[in-house]
Amino acid sequence: MNPVTFHAPQASAEALRLAAGGAAALIAGGTNLIDLMKEGVMRPAALVDISNLPLDGIDATAQGGLLLGATARNADTAYHPLVRSRYPLLSAAILAGASPQIRNMATDGGNLLQRTRCHYFYDIAVPCNKRAPGSGCSAIGGLTRQHAILGASEHCIATHPSDMCVALAALSAVVHVSSQQGERRIDFADFHRLPGANPERDNTLLPGELINAIELPPAGQFAAHSAYLKFRDRASYAFALVSVAAALDIGPDGAVRAARVALGSVAHKPWRVPAAEDLLVGQQAGSTAFEACADLLLAGARGQGQNDFKIPMARRAVVRALEQAAAGTIDNMHAPADSAGKEPL
Ligand SMILES: Cc1cc2nc3c(=O)[nH]c(=O)nc-3n(C[C@H](O)[C@H](O)[C@H](O)COP(=O)(O)OP(=O)(O)OC[C@H]3O[C@@H](n4cnc5c(N)ncnc54)[C@H](O)[C@@H]3O)c2cc1C
Ligand code: SF4
Repeated sequence: MNPVTFHAPQASAEALRLAAGGAAALIAGGTNLIDLMKEGVMRPAALVDISNLPLDGIDATAQGGLLLGATARNADTAYHPLVRSRYPLLSAAILAGASPQIRNMATDGGNLLQRTRCHYFYDIAVPCNKRAPGSGCSAIGGLTRQHAILGASEHCIATHPSDMCVALAALSAVVHVSSQQGERRIDFADFHRLPGANPERDNTLLPGELINAIELPPAGQFAAHSAYLKFRDRASYAFALVSVAAALDIGPDGAVRAARVALGSVAHKPWRVPAAEDLLVGQQAGSTAFEACADLLLAGARGQGQNDFKIPMARRAVVRALEQAAAGTIDNMHAPADSAGKEPL
């Protein structure tokens, strides 16, 4: 048994003091951290519960964007009227993930920091460079159906499993963080990192840093033409094999004025290639341009054998997501929110 000290601060300054240095683990919804503690993957000596901090607001910014508090629940975010009207892509991505029960508990900040679902990472009996740096990678040469086709290294081929983050990448979100040293902002493209020689580091947060909020820049021009597609082994309650967030701004002449495309579950981070999006600009929204975009997005993709199928799957998924986005945003709010904004269990 591992004894754990539990703190439930009421103010951010106290939470930052307790979190300083990174020895204590912050806990928000607990839907990932508690699983990792039960498996023995994480053994923090102290937990700092951040759910009492005033970080659960969802507020419009003066610039026309939105600020999602770190402890806002995934369900409340997905069903928030401003998210639904301005960022339907984000609503769709969140609702494609997990289950209603988990989305009611999981927070926006925690979603960004959920760990990989590589099965070897969860099995403390086998080597894993992400869990135990320098021990080796059991996935390479092992079971690789869900693993990376882009951006992997010889040290780790894990994928980032989040659906929400794929939409946040496409929407060019900015992560607001603070520590005892002050506050800073991290562009979403720089928040998660590729594994390189240090796969134990999933992101660029520093020890003791707390996510306060996620800022969505104004993106009204994409609201009418966006789509989130998720391909998985069963219809619900499963992580993606491949997912795509696509958003288009289409002019009255049918030409693309701006485009965003991000792939999920294919790399250690949501995968975006701005040059592939630029290829669409000025082109008629149609399959010729969409296929060229998909080809550039997947340039350099390499499978591990069992996951080779992900390369053509991702290419077709990009084209289909762009076709769906061009046709118009689908309102896939499949579960009605109750009056408290929560999902029915
Ligand atoms: C069965 C199951 C199925 C799932 N399916 C999906 C899916 O299909 N798609 C998907 O995207 N997700 C899925 N999830 C993952 C789920 O979305 C995450 O577990 C959840 O978003 C994590 O949020 P949390 O608040 O519970 O985080 P916690 O478990 O509380 O924390 C996760 C990590 O984030 C850190 N942390 C939390 N908040 C902060 C903060 N504000 N600042 C700094 N550090 C912080 C914690 O220290 C911890 O390391 C699934 C989970 C389960 C259990
Ligand atoms: S792919 Fe990464 S997480 Fe999975 S076993 Fe290898 S090092 Fe560990």
